[in-house]
Amino acid sequence: MNTIIDVQSLNKSFGDLHVLKDIDFSVEKGEVVVLIGASGSGKSTLLRCLNFLEMKGGGEISLHGKLVDEKEAKLSEVRQNIGMVFQHFNLFPHKTVLENVMEAPIQVKKMNKAEAKKIARELLEKVGLKEKEDIFPNRLSGGQKQRVAIARALAMNPSIMLFDEPTSALDPELIGEVLQTMKTLASEGMTMVVVTHEMRFAKEVADRVIYMHDGRIVEQGPPQELFESPENERTEQFLQSIY
Ligand code: ADP
Ligand code: MG
Repeated sequence: MNTIIDVQSLNKSFGDLHVLKDIDFSVEKGEVVVLIGASGSGKSTLLRCLNFLEMKGGGEISLHGKLVDEKEAKLSEVRQNIGMVFQHFNLFPHKTVLENVMEAPIQVKKMNKAEAKKIARELLEKVGLKEKEDIFPNRLSGGQKQRVAIARALAMNPSIMLFDEPTSALDPELIGEVLQTMKTLASEGMTMVVVTHEMRFAKEVADRVIYMHDGRIVEQGPPQELFESPENERTEQFLQSIY
């Protein structure tokens, strides 16, 4: 076993609102974990804590076997290793597609431009957007934007990719191309934590599905087991509500 993410008793509050309650969870190298749960159950907050975009209130987070002390660790270095893809793409509107993908390696890793360009082009080819490199994001469809966002995250050569509802803002006919890109990534062995409502993706790609309710992990297991014979009544109710 090669544990990449290990979370122990994670707690997080916003003021009086206790949003994550004693979360224990770990992710193995190459594993694809899908997080499901109703809106407000704490899925995004959990992802943001893993990336230290949100500071935890209590508990421990270890990455690659090393406990991260958020007061001492260089969080920018920790984050470099974790790619994140959001619902709303967040591309730089005044940069071309290629420049969007080159930006972080140049700015954060101080990579030289020629090398960053080479890597960016390879990644754009990988997500099927090689021919779009010189255009600006506003000329892309939502699905294309999200694929650029994935390429941009991959440009930092992360060992973990976090996805927060990557297809929720897309028109239905554009969802498939983004899921296919994610599926390819998974098949190449990327470690992934994905918040999604796409149950077919979860069934086909996830090694494990975690159901969250009200800030807690209620149930988890392989997709077949969780979807077909949930043990917890809440899980069952949630699954019925989304089908
Ligand atoms: P989910 O992603 O499952 O919909 P979130 O993690 O976004 O859930 O939110 C969990 C709860 O925390 C919600 O009640 C939400 O309103 C609250 N919350 C999230 N972010 C903040 C914040 N920055 N400040 C205050 N409350 C927040
Ligand atoms: Mg969310």
